[in-house]
Amino acid sequence: MKTAILVVDMLNDFVTGALKCDRGLAIVPKTAKLLAGARKAGVPVIFCNDAHIKGVDHELKLWGDHAIAGTKGAEVIEEMALCDSDYVVPKRRYSGFFHTDLDLLLRELGVDTVVMTGLHTHMCVRHTTADAYCLGYNIVVAKDATDSFTKEDYDYGIKYLQEVYGAEITDVDSLLARWNA
Ligand code: ZN
Repeated sequence: MKTAILVVDMLNDFVTGALKCDRGLAIVPKTAKLLAGARKAGVPVIFCNDAHIKGVDHELKLWGDHAIAGTKGAEVIEEMALCDSDYVVPKRRYSGFFHTDLDLLLRELGVDTVVMTGLHTHMCVRHTTADAYCLGYNIVVAKDATDSFTKEDYDYGIKYLQEVYGAEITDVDSLLARWNA
């Protein structure tokens, strides 16, 4: 089993900017801890980042402008300590797989299992998981490194990932113990 971590939309606009979210801010320390441990254990860290085109992207009509490519709002939050060994996959839809090279990257890295983290559990994390599942990847969810605008959205998201994609729901410390990180 070869694992990679997918970090969905841990960007300035989602945490402290245009679509800021207190529950998103709350998962920052645990997510940072997971990523530090993953890097130490040689587990690839892949950021799936909204990088929208202003005035064009369909999704902006629903949510308003956020994470516009090239702006500060579209940058990974500083606490994630993005480094040279990480990978960044820009996306223009909820799913990190939709018209991106994420599947190609995972296949070239020999990955068969993805650990889902980031924002929002019931939305971009869910859509990315849907495509990961359909493409044949095993799904693990770090439940304390993902969240949604509300507890209801989060609970619904976790339940859906578990029931529909057979996701293993675990937490950051259990994953770190597994990797001895
Ligand atoms: Zn978006």
